[in-house]
Amino acid sequence: MAREPWVDQDVCISCGLCTDNVPEVFRFADNGKAECYDQTGASEEEIQNDAIDVCPVSCIHWR
Ligand code: SF4
Repeated sequence: MAREPWVDQDVCISCGLCTDNVPEVFRFADNGKAECYDQTGASEEEIQNDAIDVCPVSCIHWR
């Protein structure tokens, strides 16, 4: 099974980079913090490069 990105919402500052760059995978939850809703929406490489590596507070992790 593919790895799943997970957003530590206690740390997320709702900057919108991950939701803008990879909207097939990340969206804002009702609490205003980002969440992964479909880990199959993009390749692991795209998730790594366009979301995890650019998150300003490094709060997206693989699990
Ligand atoms: S890039 Fe990081 S801080 Fe910005 S919305 Fe996504 S998870 Fe939150």
